[in-house]
Amino acid sequence: MTETLVDATPTAGISALAARILAGGQITRDEALPLFQLEDSADIFDLLAAANRIRERFKGNKIHLCSIVNAKAGACSENCSFCAQSSFHQTGSPKYGFVDPEPVLEAAEEAGRNGVTAVGLVAAWRGLNEGPMLDEVCDRIRDLAQSGKTRPDASLGIIKSQRVADRLKEAGLECYGHNLESSRRFFPNTCTTHSYDERLETIRYLRNAGLRICSGGIIGMGETREDRCDLAFSLRDVGASVVPINILNPVKGTPYENNPPLPPMEILKTIACFRFILPRQEIMIAGGRTLNLRDMQSLIFMAGASALMVGNYLTTLNQPVEKDLQMLKDLGLSADWDDHFSSQT
Ligand code: SF4
Repeated sequence: MTETLVDATPTAGISALAARILAGGQITRDEALPLFQLEDSADIFDLLAAANRIRERFKGNKIHLCSIVNAKAGACSENCSFCAQSSFHQTGSPKYGFVDPEPVLEAAEEAGRNGVTAVGLVAAWRGLNEGPMLDEVCDRIRDLAQSGKTRPDASLGIIKSQRVADRLKEAGLECYGHNLESSRRFFPNTCTTHSYDERLETIRYLRNAGLRICSGGIIGMGETREDRCDLAFSLRDVGASVVPINILNPVKGTPYENNPPLPPMEILKTIACFRFILPRQEIMIAGGRTLNLRDMQSLIFMAGASALMVGNYLTTLNQPVEKDLQMLKDLGLSADWDDHFSSQT
């Protein structure tokens, strides 16, 4: 790879790339990789400041809030190394069948109260096929859509037919979460029971159905900075609209239980690099932020994040929603819920 402006003079290189993005342009993989490799904290703060400008240009001061309902927990047939819900790992994580309507409606009510734009139904299983379970899933999506309190989202694993994606859309689903998790190169280190290509195929069915794609990954699994860079470009290629970045929470009993934590500055730099590559997408900070960023959580917005997963995660706790809402207020930011729902109430 030839030396880029960022390698030679980081401050000038960061400014030049940011100016191009602010003018509506894009950066290449060769230009992005040196950003992921920055080591000097003064350079990283230059990067964060530029990412903040890009966020403000394309997302304003509105922050998109999402929450999730664990619609079916534990005993998953897949072996994702980071996941407490895999039946391959002994984690003591709860196990239960498909969720009843009441908790879903309660989650919608709570979302409405807190300004949370979307509630996602998340199921721990390999994927969804045609049959009675799909009917039940569609019922819950209809309930969420008809509540008028929140936008129904879902993350229900691998999809193997266009018909399933179409049925979800017909039920009122707007956005489907399906992470690529990491780069194609690193993916087999984290999961071998399904392939990267199966994940890409699922996203194709979802896009054909007219659903918005929420797709991101997890950092801190042992992947390289190059893997993180490649993940961001793959997400650009698949047309993700919302990009969740999870930071590994090493759960006891999983193969990653002893993974060393990523330093907070490395996490913030990664978020900023994603903003450079994905300037118009919602970059959402999801699982692991409280544990890994501690007092530096509020800097995620300066690093370019424009969305936040609030409430508890699937198997780990988050800080209370009220604390997140206070953090936004203190930063002069606000939830984008009004833009979606104020006309309906
Ligand atoms: S990440 Fe999803 S597919 Fe993988 S083990 Fe966990 S619940 Fe199953």
